[in-house]
Amino acid sequence: MKRRILLFSAGVFLVMFFTMHMVVDQMAQPDTDNTIDETKKKLVKLNEEIDQLKSSLTKTQNALVPGLDNTNYKSKALVSVDSTGCGFAQSEAGLSADIRMLDIYKIIPFDNPDGGAWKQGWDISVPSGAFDNEILQVFVVPHSHNDPGWIKTFQRYYMDQSKHIISNVVANLIGNPNRKFIWAEISFLSLWWNDASSSQRESFKRLVKNGQLEIVTGGWVMNDEANTNYYAMIDQMIEGHEWVRLNIGIKPRVSWSIDPFGYTPTMAYLLKRMGMDAMLIQRVHYSVKKYLAQKKQLEFMWRQNWDHGTDTDILCHVMPFYSYDIPHTCGPDPAVCCQFDFQRLPGGGIWCPWNIPPQPISPRNVQQRAMMLLEQYRKKSRLYRSNVVLAPLGDDFRYADPQEPVRQFTNYEKLFQYLNSKPELKVKIQFGTLSDYFNALLKTTGKNDDGSPKGYPKLGGDFMTYADRDEHYWSGYYTSRPFYKNLDRVLETKHRAAEIAYSIASRIANQEKIAKFATNQFNLLVKSRRNLGLFQHHDGITGTAKDHVVVDYGNRLVQSVGNMQNVIASAAKLLMLKHKESYSSDEIRFDMDESRASHDSLPEKRLLSISNTRVVVFYNSLAQKRKELVSVHVSVPNVKVLDADGNSIKCQVNLQWKNKNSPRDNKFEVLFPIEVLGLGFSRVTIQKTDGSSDGCKPSKTSIYHHKVKNDLVKGFDVRNADCGKQYITMENQFIVADFDRCTGLLQNIADKSTGIKRTAELRFLQYMTVSSGAYLFLPSGTAKEVLIQKPFFRHISGILRDEIQAFYPNVYHNIKLANTNGIDSRSLHIHNLVDIRDTSNRELIMRISTNIRNTNREYFTDLNGFQMQRRRTLDKIPLQANYYPMPSMAFLQDPKLRMTLHTMQACGVASLKQGEFEVMLDRRLGQDDNRGLGQGVRDNKQTPYHFALLLENLTKKQTMVKSKIPIAYPSLVGHAVSQTVNHPINIMFGTSEVIPDSLLKQYSPLKSGSFPCDLHLVTARTVQGEGDSKPTDETAVVLHRYGYDCGYGMTPLLCFPLGSKIEFKSLWNLGVRNFKETSLTMMHDGNERGGEESIDLTLQPMELYTYKVKFSG
Ligand SMILES: [Zn+2]
Repeated sequence: MKRRILLFSAGVFLVMFFTMHMVVDQMAQPDTDNTIDETKKKLVKLNEEIDQLKSSLTKTQNALVPGLDNTNYKSKALVSVDSTGCGFAQSEAGLSADIRMLDIYKIIPFDNPDGGAWKQGWDISVPSGAFDNEILQVFVVPHSHNDPGWIKTFQRYYMDQSKHIISNVVANLIGNPNRKFIWAEISFLSLWWNDASSSQRESFKRLVKNGQLEIVTGGWVMNDEANTNYYAMIDQMIEGHEWVRLNIGIKPRVSWSIDPFGYTPTMAYLLKRMGMDAMLIQRVHYSVKKYLAQKKQLEFMWRQNWDHGTDTDILCHVMPFYSYDIPHTCGPDPAVCCQFDFQRLPGGGIWCPWNIPPQPISPRNVQQRAMMLLEQYRKKSRLYRSNVVLAPLGDDFRYADPQEPVRQFTNYEKLFQYLNSKPELKVKIQFGTLSDYFNALLKTTGKNDDGSPKGYPKLGGDFMTYADRDEHYWSGYYTSRPFYKNLDRVLETKHRAAEIAYSIASRIANQEKIAKFATNQFNLLVKSRRNLGLFQHHDGITGTAKDHVVVDYGNRLVQSVGNMQNVIASAAKLLMLKHKESYSSDEIRFDMDESRASHDSLPEKRLLSISNTRVVVFYNSLAQKRKELVSVHVSVPNVKVLDADGNSIKCQVNLQWKNKNSPRDNKFEVLFPIEVLGLGFSRVTIQKTDGSSDGCKPSKTSIYHHKVKNDLVKGFDVRNADCGKQYITMENQFIVADFDRCTGLLQNIADKSTGIKRTAELRFLQYMTVSSGAYLFLPSGTAKEVLIQKPFFRHISGILRDEIQAFYPNVYHNIKLANTNGIDSRSLHIHNLVDIRDTSNRELIMRISTNIRNTNREYFTDLNGFQMQRRRTLDKIPLQANYYPMPSMAFLQDPKLRMTLHTMQACGVASLKQGEFEVMLDRRLGQDDNRGLGQGVRDNKQTPYHFALLLENLTKKQTMVKSKIPIAYPSLVGHAVSQTVNHPINIMFGTSEVIPDSLLKQYSPLKSGSFPCDLHLVTARTVQGEGDSKPTDETAVVLHRYGYDCGYGMTPLLCFPLGSKIEFKSLWNLGVRNFKETSLTMMHDGNERGGEESIDLTLQPMELYTYKVKFSG
């Protein structure tokens, strides 16, 4: 009772703090008309708000589960809380940029006129005398673009090309100090390193250290930016940077990303926090390139829309022309530039499609050739602010032929010699690295105090959706090969869970001297980091590789999923055992409840055979405590579930069906709610009962459009139901949802806090196409509805969950509503099992039509699961251009309501009409789309999808974010739903030798059992030591403080948001021996603190932080 009162007063205090800050915020806004009267009015309003917030807070506290001992944490919050979390989302960010991508889309006509030699631009003229007074500096940057899997597998490319490329480059640079080269893909470099002789390695290092060879970006791969989640982006960058640090000993400082099909500010932010100085991108919509070029804005400081200052600015260079190949990089005329690709000389195996071949440079032609090339460089320089020109010299897998470096370097050296020997030409030309270019640029422009070039514009927004020509929008790859996009996320959640569990368990093992623990586990983690990293490649997760390459990726992913499950199970055993020494027993083991037979098969739930009592263990990889329904498959229907104290847990048992007519008699689904602390483990036991009343309650099944016998299984109510006008209704404490009684499809949904029913009609439709391919979405007209007349479906209702299982053409559609008071009950869960293998040239979508009035067809989609971007559907661009990536969520809103569709995996999304959104589910395509892949997409699989539909009412008096603001934030509930969808609770079965009493009741490494709601543990990843695959005693702890919108309430969260400060050690039950601030990927270390000092951290909303921590057990 005392604790309740303390909680309540703490809550009121919190409200007062939030509100006071809002007053200050509002008063600080410049408003010349603001009279004293108006201010008074505002204060009255704010008082009303206090009341409202108070009541919502009371609700939140009521949702707290008795027995959760987090007073310690909350009293901390009480002392230091302020409203930065709420105030952050309320303030008007995103308007300080000079170039706002959302506004630019309004301005650009997207008319695509023929620009002449530079087809998508214009005829660039160089006024005479333009170079009289300044020297044009040209950096020719030799590079080779190596895809870790595309037409060939990663390994095949390495053997056939990449291996030779690196060797050739090293051999040609050594002894030629003026020759330069850049290399991006660490995955290939690490293979070369393993094969290289020690003298080759030494040469490579020497070239890097003397500046001839630059490692750019230094990621494991050049990652895709549309479908990737920021977790996997960071993870693959850490893997690359750790490799570079351990093997070469340098820190990449500029980024080179020439091939991903569109770019997000998330990547720019990550690069900034890694400590990069500048970045380069290339695949930007041709009309956007032209617009920026006309204003000399192809170089800018890229700023996060959520940045309230200038702290996230990073210098970005956009390549101006069609491609990164040599014809499109020396200047505007590809017919000319192609003649300076000396690999296209006779014997090189390739030629110029413009039919003017290159000529070897000789004393006879050098003047004419040099002047021709100089003209292109001069024209190119007119598109930029400085007199420094970047001229990349390379293409896909170039320099593999040992003759190529000789051809390119020697011919260019002759051109350089000529041009540099004529002072009247005012040109200084040389080979350079990307850093050489940016350094020269900054030298000529001068630098501001923050190191940025003087006079450069700031840009806010993203570069989606990419088009390279005509109406060829690259929005197909947002969905292509969805089976593997799903498998990617499965590995992400398992991998992250395993990293964290391993990092904690290895500290405990170390303390308890359990030598057996670490053997080979870390090897599995490193392998999984690399397999997951490899798939983030822009032909991996994008679904744009050849069939056999997709299989190679799939095998890697599925192998690592299995390995990560073993790591998790092993850590669970160690952490849950009361007596750690029994860890060495092989009979005592936990097995994951799910397994996969092969790279293209669906996960299968393991059957828990119950003869007497079995232990089931749960692991929550999120840092917040959660309460959710879990599902276990058991061999008998008469069971009960006991918590660790031996108390019965409410449970439901469902039938499993062999086919339409017959339920299984040896497999049943048991559902029950469980609570698991943050990063914690808990357990239950499942026991067979004699059929008495304390067992799990059987659900009822109603069957539509098919007749079955009513008494199929003893104890279960199965009946035939009739189609009719009334709805099938599902309801819990938060939601009421209506379904059509003839089709089983969702019709309406209401949030019970207001009771206002909203239309939400869910339908399946398909686009026909004759030209879509793996990259491009090119529909023939609008989508046609998939006819659903009398579908077979079941409605299953029980005390803990209601669901509809409907069998539609190409989709098994399963909608569930949980009835716990946990976060899983806050949204409607949609599971689709999509199978379009019997179609051809079809793109299947799911559309939800609502009466939400989102004006101007504006809505929000996420970028890499990290931030939300406003989208506006436009008529001047084609349908496919209005598709955007949805790696984790999208929402529609009007002044009263927000509806969010959360997804477990990346797919394409659009909102073509007001109140509507649609997601693309799968694509089956008979043709190639002429981007080099050379095949259609016909390797479709049965693909699972998990969506959650969340309805949130805007708290009265809170206002929706204004239309000019390019960003919005999910609520804390929205964040929690997303995490729940993406990180399901891990379920493990103890072998029959595991006795409940030998295990702890629960375990969590967190002191209060939960992080604050807005603090996400991105990863806790054991740092790699010298020599491959050796762990150190350091853990990289990556934290993300969410930006969140306070306007939508917090029920039913079991946590509180962060105050302005947090003491790091107070979060953990583990000891902290040493703590070091570091950059995102640990390249640049900051302050260090020892074991005795307190570690107060001030974490800003939206920001990511990495710390190197030495935990003790
Ligand atoms: Zn590529």
